[in-house]
Amino acid sequence: MGYPHKPHAKETALLSKHFGDPDARTYKGWAKRGGYEAWKQAQTMAPAAITDVVKESGLRGRGGAGFPTGLKWSFMPKEKKKPHYLCVNADESEPGTFKDREIMRWTPHALLEGTLIAMRAIQAEVGYIYIRGEFTEPYAIMEQALAEATKAGVLGGHKIHLHRGAGAYICGEETAMMNSIEGKRGNPRIKPPFPAAFGVFGMPTTINNVETLAAVPHILRQGAAWYKAMSLSNPKSTGTKLFSVCGHVRLPGNYEVTMGFPLKDLLHELCGGMRPGRTLKACIPGGSSVPILNREESEGCLLDYEGCVEKGTMLGSGGVIVFDDSADMVYQIMRLARFYAHESCAQCTQCREGTAWTTKILERILAGQGKMADLDLLLDLSDNMTGKTICVLSDSCAAPVVSGIKKFRTEFEDYIAGRKQPVMVA
Ligand code: SF4
Repeated sequence: MGYPHKPHAKETALLSKHFGDPDARTYKGWAKRGGYEAWKQAQTMAPAAITDVVKESGLRGRGGAGFPTGLKWSFMPKEKKKPHYLCVNADESEPGTFKDREIMRWTPHALLEGTLIAMRAIQAEVGYIYIRGEFTEPYAIMEQALAEATKAGVLGGHKIHLHRGAGAYICGEETAMMNSIEGKRGNPRIKPPFPAAFGVFGMPTTINNVETLAAVPHILRQGAAWYKAMSLSNPKSTGTKLFSVCGHVRLPGNYEVTMGFPLKDLLHELCGGMRPGRTLKACIPGGSSVPILNREESEGCLLDYEGCVEKGTMLGSGGVIVFDDSADMVYQIMRLARFYAHESCAQCTQCREGTAWTTKILERILAGQGKMADLDLLLDLSDNMTGKTICVLSDSCAAPVVSGIKKFRTEFEDYIAGRKQPVMVA
């Protein structure tokens, strides 16, 4: 199958409709497809009216937290005493997630249009689109699109800057991102104060994800009720969601479905099922920082915010990582812990020490030098790493460890008891 793929009959291609069509990347091509009509409409509306439409639609942040977008916008001061800013989180570094990249690659003007509408809603003159440093091609495409939009005069006095990250995962955390934009080391800040009160450069700021903003023009053009009606399971989860599926499926890629779509159908129908002769063992549905689901949980999970919570995990960024029965869960969990240890900014003791020790203990178990008491030690460490730090990177490391030990404990015990050949990890 080519990539991007032709949408499956069960997909709802809203944001991904023009993926794979280079003409849609250009200003002229985008305008031909109804582009910037919603922005024209927004310019005739009062900022509060735009916010109300987005509130009514039920749109929630697609970056991971799922916070209601209109409500977030409404936190910005109504009286304009200081400059307001919009920061667009295009840092997409969550392992397993690659959908914002495709929005920027194929429909850069959709992001610019959503950005402009959001800027009007929160009364921001300046917006920063913070793009992951490794996204060389998406950055070049965004740069070209911004130049075209500027030349066409659609920015209406607003200023949008593209800001490239320098490779730190933690800069995808909103307060670290603001520090990075200010030219400082990308360390997360303690909240409160929250960005709407004290954001980038100390000014009122809203931070929105790429996929969230790309949905906004559709909502303005087709109405809140239309968007809200796209919901298969829970009315609190509305619209469509892009899922980046990677791992042991036949057809990995980005799939856009209506909220509440069954994970089972995503894996076994849209993604073509497991590789030949293999069966599903586990799945992480929301990017690497959410708890792992076993096979039964995965096959009963509905992909919306509530459906994932019901199964003990989270929708997160929608990065679906699939493991078949050949996967070594101890090794996979060690790789995740190692990633978080590498990316910790080291401000908090629980995170700096916890992620490093978690990795060392998992490596020890894999090397055949673990003790049964290590499993309790890992759980104790994870407990100390959860809910006690400045940001949630520490929690993100603990989530796969705790769920992994709970659901795949015998795999850890096999290494410790010498029933499994040790793995030397470099
Ligand atoms: Fe830094 Fe980790 Fe603390 Fe987050 S939890 S601020 S990444 S040390």
